[in-house]
Amino acid sequence: MSKNLVFGSISSEEAMELEKTYGAHNYHPLPIVIAKGEGVKVWDPEGKEYYDFLSAYSAINQGHCHPKIIKALIDQANVLTLTSRAFYNNKLGEYEKFVTEFFGYEMVLPMNTGAEAVETAIKLARKWGYVKKEIEEDKAIIVFAEGNFHGRTITIVSASTDPDCRKGFGPFTPGIEKIPYNDPQALEDILQKLGENVAAFIVEPIQGEAGVFVPDDNYIKDCYNICKKHNVLFVADEVQSGIARTGRLLCCEYAEIKPDIVILGKAISGGVLPISAVLSSREIMLNIKPGEHGSTFGGFPLACTVATAALEVIRDEKLTEKAEALGKIFRAELRKIKSPFIKLVRGKGLLNAIIIEPKDGIEAWDVCIKLKENGLLAKPTHQHIIRFAPPLVITEEQIMECIDIIKNTLLELS
Ligand SMILES: *Cc1c(COP(=O)(O)O)cnc(C)c1O
Repeated sequence: MSKNLVFGSISSEEAMELEKTYGAHNYHPLPIVIAKGEGVKVWDPEGKEYYDFLSAYSAINQGHCHPKIIKALIDQANVLTLTSRAFYNNKLGEYEKFVTEFFGYEMVLPMNTGAEAVETAIKLARKWGYVKKEIEEDKAIIVFAEGNFHGRTITIVSASTDPDCRKGFGPFTPGIEKIPYNDPQALEDILQKLGENVAAFIVEPIQGEAGVFVPDDNYIKDCYNICKKHNVLFVADEVQSGIARTGRLLCCEYAEIKPDIVILGKAISGGVLPISAVLSSREIMLNIKPGEHGSTFGGFPLACTVATAALEVIRDEKLTEKAEALGKIFRAELRKIKSPFIKLVRGKGLLNAIIIEPKDGIEAWDVCIKLKENGLLAKPTHQHIIRFAPPLVITEEQIMECIDIIKNTLLELS
């Protein structure tokens, strides 16, 4: 049926048609089909090569199909994959020790997706609120920041301010308050008003989906201190910003604070399995008792070996240091590009974005289509913003090659 195929058995056109016909239309992908990935590059079925500048929303920090992570996956898959938590297994405890020491926390609660980890953090914070802070039953409040993205469950979209996330999905979960992002005074005000009942403030140290919105330098530290003053847990959603992406193992390290609870996902598996984690202290974690929370797959043996390998790659290949150094070069080079389309360049480490000034009917989407034609994949977020987040294994030479692609693309468009 299909001719000229290099990878797989169906063409790009056929693959897109099948998704359109048989899959729910809950995404609006760029018209590119990926059939193979290796390191910073991906290929379509016809064999055309692209730089991946999305990295699956920063799940692929270690690069596509990292050989060490894939080896860990295959080796463990041949021995034991899933036991459920009805029994102990010989991989979970070892992983729990490793991951808590890796991030400097006392305990971990393993889950699968980022959204599940956020839900877990919400439950953990509420439980702590009732048991330790002695909030009156059913009165606990969790504070969120406007413009957030924490996932797609009903409770999480209850905390969202994005109409697309919410419309048609009510009624929403009560006990949620929203305040402006990057505004510590707004947190102080709401805690002064409702503080007795507030269990936690959940925040992204950089708002990724909002368009790589980097708050002021003092924001995270101020919010942390305000939380401490009011006996409120400071919870960092580092699902996208964490695990070396921003040039620190956790983005909160820039603020020199240690969140009471950290939520991780995405790159904790290097994009190999859906693995997430909630890290905290014994004091907070042990308020959840046996039978009160869980997941059939959470912390399954395959996940434990994959996550361990994925974090070892981060450490052994010094991806945190690389992200910081290459991020500086990347932003400096982006800022040198003289184009009427670039309104602003922002980011930290290798989590970056440009804000596009629409011109002559050309918008961020059109820029991404043209980038794709020129061999670089990126996706617009919020209409005018393009995120640039390549795998952290990218080299300086490759960064410079990509700068040329971006520069030439913008030139062609103007
Ligand atoms: C992606 C993301 C999530 C949700 O993770 P899923 O695995 O898609 O459920 C939560 N928080 C942040 C900051 C994210 O970027």
